[in-house]
Amino acid sequence: MPTYSLVVPAYNEEGVIGELAARLTEVMDALDGDAEAILVDDGSRDRTYELMLVAAQEEPRLRLIRLSRNFGHQIALTAGVDLAAGDAVIVLDADLQDPPEVILELAARWREGYDIVYAQRDVRVGETRFKRATAAWFYRGFNRISEVQVPVDVGDFRLVDRRALDVFNNMRESNRFVRGMFAWIGLRQTGVVYARQERFAGETKYPLRKMLRFASTGVISFSSAPLRAALTLGFFVSFVAFALGIWSLIVKLAGFYNVPGWTSIVVVTAFIGGIQLIVLGVIGLYIGDIHAEVKGRPLYVIGELENFPDERSLPPRAIVADRRVREYER
Ligand code: UDP
Ligand code: MG
Repeated sequence: MPTYSLVVPAYNEEGVIGELAARLTEVMDALDGDAEAILVDDGSRDRTYELMLVAAQEEPRLRLIRLSRNFGHQIALTAGVDLAAGDAVIVLDADLQDPPEVILELAARWREGYDIVYAQRDVRVGETRFKRATAAWFYRGFNRISEVQVPVDVGDFRLVDRRALDVFNNMRESNRFVRGMFAWIGLRQTGVVYARQERFAGETKYPLRKMLRFASTGVISFSSAPLRAALTLGFFVSFVAFALGIWSLIVKLAGFYNVPGWTSIVVVTAFIGGIQLIVLGVIGLYIGDIHAEVKGRPLYVIGELENFPDERSLPPRAIVADRRVREYER
């Protein structure tokens, strides 16, 4: 069994796989224990998996997981750590924005006894001002309302000890905000500062739409503040509506009643209608989350496995559909 497992999710990353494999191999050689690297192909539509196969033929420590379709970054990462056998598991991006060499520093801190060592960005060479600003703003807001604190400027690049990983593997929620889930675990955590690099090749797989979705998943899985805000808003609007009601009664009873007033009626009705829809929408987001959890579907389906020398047990809600490895199924 390896000491270190490196887990790398990749989606349409054909431009980086060659370089990635070379850099991972160097780091595996430099580590102070046996290592494996698990590349997860998250249903790529380009030559990502073919190139992974080429690399894995030359380097037996490279193991491949091919998901049956695109499940998204957080799920692909989960599939990788589910099959990782190491005492320490390191998650990093495929695009080399997280320099694999930093793993040596993470490992050194782990040897000091930490359970989770996250990599914290101090400078971000390859990121737009927009991305930095929105990220800073989001995590500040998130930490105010969340039940757990996520360190700022931290992504999914981190090292996790087996003891913390066993906890993580028991958290089988389908709406996954992995950095929040690791923060939730607690235990002994620390950070290592590094410089986030530019993407080696290709384009970001997180367009604005996916970023917003990701942010919303994070908030909904770690906070009920939006629900409380909806309630507060409801109370506020009811109060205003009540005051308006009293006012119009007084006007009527005092004999000042006159028909004009159409504008205020339209404005008030529309306002209250709008508020109701917003509040319903917030509740709807939580119901959507419940819906996904209640169905209890598998988190992902593995279509192909390559270079896994031993049988590895899988946590619940994970399915392997590879014909050659039926024994993986439970
Ligand atoms: N990724 C993935 N599945 C997806 C989207 C992204 O596995 O559906 C991977 C991607 O290949 C990369 C990592 O997740 O290794 C982070 O994505 P990206 O670098 O595009 O995000 P950014 O660094 O721009 O935030
Ligand atoms: Mg990236």
